[in-house]
Amino acid sequence: MATAAATAATLLLAVSGLASGLVVPADERCHSTDNAVLGIDIGATYSCVAVYCKGRVEIIPNDQGNRLTPSWVAEGGGRLVVGEAAKEQAAGSPGRAVVHDFMRLLGKKFGDDDVQREMTRLPYAVVDMEGKPHVRVEAADGDVRVLSPEEIAAAVLAKMKETAEAHLGRTVSSAVVAVPVYFNDAQRRAISDAGGIAGLDVMRIVSEPIAAAVAYGLDNAKSDGKRVVVFDLGGETLDVTALVADNGFFDVLATNGDGHLGGEGFDQRVVNHFVDLIKRKHGRDISGDGRAMHRLRRECERAKHALSAQHQVRVEIEALLDGGVDLSETLTRAQFEELNDDLFARTMAPLRKTMADAGLEKGDIDEIIPVGGSTRIPKVQQLIRDYFDGKKEIVKVNNPDETVAYGAAVIGRHVAGDDDDKPTMLDLPSFLSDTISIETAGGAVTPMIPRRSRLPAERTHVFTTYLGRQTAVAINVFQGEGSTAKDNTLLGRLELTGIPPASVWNWGWRWRPIQVTVKVDELGDIHVEAADEGSGKSERLSIVSGEGHEHGRLSKEEIDRMIREVAEDLVEEERIVKERVDALNMLETYIVKNTAVTGGETDCEAKARAASEWLDGNPAAEKEDYEEKLKELEDACGPFMAAVHETSGLGHDEL
Ligand code: AMP
Repeated sequence: MATAAATAATLLLAVSGLASGLVVPADERCHSTDNAVLGIDIGATYSCVAVYCKGRVEIIPNDQGNRLTPSWVAEGGGRLVVGEAAKEQAAGSPGRAVVHDFMRLLGKKFGDDDVQREMTRLPYAVVDMEGKPHVRVEAADGDVRVLSPEEIAAAVLAKMKETAEAHLGRTVSSAVVAVPVYFNDAQRRAISDAGGIAGLDVMRIVSEPIAAAVAYGLDNAKSDGKRVVVFDLGGETLDVTALVADNGFFDVLATNGDGHLGGEGFDQRVVNHFVDLIKRKHGRDISGDGRAMHRLRRECERAKHALSAQHQVRVEIEALLDGGVDLSETLTRAQFEELNDDLFARTMAPLRKTMADAGLEKGDIDEIIPVGGSTRIPKVQQLIRDYFDGKKEIVKVNNPDETVAYGAAVIGRHVAGDDDDKPTMLDLPSFLSDTISIETAGGAVTPMIPRRSRLPAERTHVFTTYLGRQTAVAINVFQGEGSTAKDNTLLGRLELTGIPPASVWNWGWRWRPIQVTVKVDELGDIHVEAADEGSGKSERLSIVSGEGHEHGRLSKEEIDRMIREVAEDLVEEERIVKERVDALNMLETYIVKNTAVTGGETDCEAKARAASEWLDGNPAAEKEDYEEKLKELEDACGPFMAAVHETSGLGHDEL
């Protein structure tokens, strides 16, 4: 029996009894400190981490105080930087040292059609390493590093782990990670590997819409039979999924989406609007100026966020143009909607398709859960409501960009065993993530069961032999979205031998019809049968789900090496933090010693007071900034050591 990954898509979860809405009863006890399981939503544009504690789910803010962390990773002098800092770095070196939107590469083969397509769009270099796509990042000092998508995902997961640890004040080593519903086995395993590299035991990989439904308490007994649509519009993608709650389980009825529709596209329309405006007003084209475009993009995203709550916003950027010319304009919500009119309208097509594929009428839907930051946009919410004939009450909107992490944390709590009477179980795939095809002459493939098909699924197709007097045929079964066999993953091969050569009587004159049936069962196992009807000869092949794609997985050695590298990065990170704190301490000590001693309005005193004010206004300054300030003070007040000695009266040894 050959082995392969059919797909894994639907996680059915047996949990029940939670309150409806994004609330967990406040009187429930916190799980013990050593078995906290994080809920992580590793998104294409932003990631979010949550934990269940003291009777409720907490969304954990990062070191910048933000509840969402950009899924951006940058090479920063031999170590990886994640989040806001990485996104900011993009301003200085667009496309070279900064990686984002890498989830599309995870668990894929370099030759996959979609990887090849993405390569023309992604602003960084994607290279082939042993058949897998890797990202080539070039640091400012010219150093080059080649990273696997797992390493990049690991850097984001490590950042989420670190965020949680800083908040909880203890180490955490387990997580439930949410991924898109259509992620196949290879992609889910890649996330699991990435977790391992980041020092996290990924206890469950849960489909995002299921986590969202759990966040809304739809896994309780009262929700039995409820039909739910999860409409997930994030930064780069739209995913619509129809689910039915079934006695604490969830069943995915259908899913559809658009891989290139989301908030970044909306931002781009606003950016284009201002680039055109600047051209008209100032006769300047800033589109080639990386730094100016980065500042404009950042401001446009901020303006877009503001327009979800207000009807107009000022867009102000100081000295955007050479010569110190500022941008200072008003953008109204109506303008924003007009700029994106066609994109907003496009969001409805996957919704219609999902409903049709699920065999549901609008009136069948009990709840609609908008998920993803872009569903905060009023126009998007209105379109969803309009589609469901204005039924306002069924559309639940509550921090849509945190919903998935919230649900994952609720699942994490069950997995942690805090809730013995509500066991969780991982059910088997009921939904095909990647197309199953049969190879035909010339290396082409004929799709048999399309991706996102509800399982079980079956199709029979009549192929023909293609050589005169052919007495054997090989049926190669592939999985993937490539149009040729070489761009897909070979799952197995079935040979039908001893068939009589074609004759003029049975099929035209040269070819014999071979009937091929492909069936993917509820378990994701693939069964192929090839039959030569004329002779009654037939052969069968079964391909077991879950063990394929191994060739694309990281080896134990690779994972161990990456774990060491991430650990080194973390040590390096600690060193950098320590050096910064030391520099800050030195500066603070020096300021205190000097202001205490001089007492009057000397140049030294004035500089010390100014430095103190500067410290208040620059809480996020870097080590180099502190060192520079200290140097300025030393120039005015004398060397650090002498000043501290003189004022403290301490002997040299004690320092
Ligand atoms: P997600 O990946 O789900 O966090 O979604 C990220 C996208 O949501 C980004 O394009 C954000 O700019 C967008 N987003 C976040 N908050 C808002 C908001 N208040 N209004 C409009 N878009 C938002």
